[in-house]
Amino acid sequence: MRDAEFFRHWMTAAAAAVEREADRLTELDSPIGDADHGSNLLRGFTAVVNELEAQGPDQPGAVLQLAGRTLISTVGGASGPLYGTLLRRAGKELGEAAEVDDEQVRKALYAGVGAVAQLGGAAPGDKTMLDALVPAVAALGTSYRAAADAAENGALATVPLRARKGRASYLGERSIGHQDPGATSSALLLAALADVAEDRAGAEGRA
Ligand code: ADP
Ligand code: MG
Repeated sequence: MRDAEFFRHWMTAAAAAVEREADRLTELDSPIGDADHGSNLLRGFTAVVNELEAQGPDQPGAVLQLAGRTLISTVGGASGPLYGTLLRRAGKELGEAAEVDDEQVRKALYAGVGAVAQLGGAAPGDKTMLDALVPAVAALGTSYRAAADAAENGALATVPLRARKGRASYLGERSIGHQDPGATSSALLLAALADVAEDRAGAEGRA
């Protein structure tokens, strides 16, 4: 069973991964965006960790809802409302239980990814975070690590795609040949989840 602590660890590990990779995310957002994806997420996840610390929600659903609300209110770019919606919706699905099982987590994240698709109007193949998130939630039934691997492969597979949603779509054909920053950060978030599920997030993730 997974308790509030598990989801707090996920968010802490995600924040650490975003901090480690912020420069790379911003570099990916340079040729096909406005070079702010790393700084957007760094601001957002730093605020998430601070809010979780300050408010100490003690239910899994409450942790994810607070994280989602915080991303929406602190990240100006498209990714803030999208990731915020993912976590808020997943948190709502988990309800007020003190502990949830992995099947509930899978269903909650599946619903969260559906909410992202609805909000942004994108589908797999449009060269967005959904190219990582959709295969990831499909693989969650196998394991958290399978989901992380699917997200990573999905992010790599965005390189030859032409962007049809978001800022990169303004570039048309010129968006081809670049990895999507949002799909890349989604792979980081799923890898952080797998690490925490395997209790491999390390001291940093549990600090
Ligand atoms: P902005 O594009 O506003 O500068 P970010 O740079 O933080 O915001 O995030 C860009 C990422 O957001 C893209 O790489 C893409 O993955 C994702 N994104 C943008 N628009 C959409 C959308 N409509 N649906 C899903 N993801 C999107
Ligand atoms: Mg950007």
